[in-house]
Amino acid sequence: MDYMQRHGLKRARPAELVPGTLSVITARLDYLPRATAPGWQAIEWQRLRDPRQAGVSIYARGRDYHKVLRARLQQLADRLAAEVGPLGARVFTDSAPVLEVELAARSGTGWRGKHTLALQRDAGSMFFLGEIFVDLALPPTEPAAAHCGSCSACIEVCPTRAIVAPYRLDARRCISYLTIEHDGAIPEELRAPLGNRIYGQLVCPWNKYAKTSTLPDFDARAPLEGATLLQLWAWDEAEFLRRTEGSPIRRIGHERWLRNLAVALGNALRAMPDAQIEAALRARLPEASALLGEHIEWALRQGQGAGSEACSVSHSGRLSAPSSVDTVTSPATKEASPPMRAAST
Ligand code: SF4
Repeated sequence: MDYMQRHGLKRARPAELVPGTLSVITARLDYLPRATAPGWQAIEWQRLRDPRQAGVSIYARGRDYHKVLRARLQQLADRLAAEVGPLGARVFTDSAPVLEVELAARSGTGWRGKHTLALQRDAGSMFFLGEIFVDLALPPTEPAAAHCGSCSACIEVCPTRAIVAPYRLDARRCISYLTIEHDGAIPEELRAPLGNRIYGQLVCPWNKYAKTSTLPDFDARAPLEGATLLQLWAWDEAEFLRRTEGSPIRRIGHERWLRNLAVALGNALRAMPDAQIEAALRARLPEASALLGEHIEWALRQGQGAGSEACSVSHSGRLSAPSSVDTVTSPATKEASPPMRAAST
């Protein structure tokens, strides 16, 4: 995450990042797949309780959101230019040193939750953020009011204790960072708490108000929903590249994918002996890189005395669903929030 330091104040000053910027238009795009069942949160919690299932974040099961959102923001910028005349505009989505959550909060797109992500009463935090930097002075919209109230569900439920205080995240402990951005060994003390999460994670009671996308792009691709760890572990590099074409998962590469799976398989072995899992882990050892080999060895060690540590896994995984948001703050009104707002720079 050295890009945070590398870009310095440009991150906080849009006009230094894109000279001439006078306003930032912020937008959100809901990503729950179109076929999401009403009880989807319970289904996801159940998946995380089954040590042999693979836990892949919902947002990563469909098409790479960077491509989808960037294309739509560019379309919007082109339409604006058609309305107002020549326009300096540059679009961003999770792709540059932009303080997305801060801009979203200042423009009313969502407030910053205690987990540090943006959320909104009619959407939870199940949306992507995007921005258009423009050289137009637009009237700023109102900032979003915060509605976390006394809730601290995300802090309590986070398996790796990454949210060290409200609004403060230790990225070195964050499951998303560890499974996606981090390219070295996963610290041993954090492997058990990862459970079966092999790509990202997220929880918040407001997510019960999350909206399904109208786009087919975020529909889950078959192998990434409901797959077992062993099914995914069986992919060689060619199959990994083929199955994840156009998916955000592809960028982590096959080795990191296997590293994450090895940790999850070790956690499954600790919960219950499984000869198939042991054999599959051993089969990859001869060809494994030093990094992967170390994770496989660790995973195999988890099987020694399997079952005896299952309690500690469920303790660190804390797999009880968070409390209802209605019990922690005023009932959410289902008013729609406009999907596009502006913050002045
Ligand atoms: S889980 Fe609770 S504290 Fe955390 S972001 Fe959601 S509402 Fe806020």
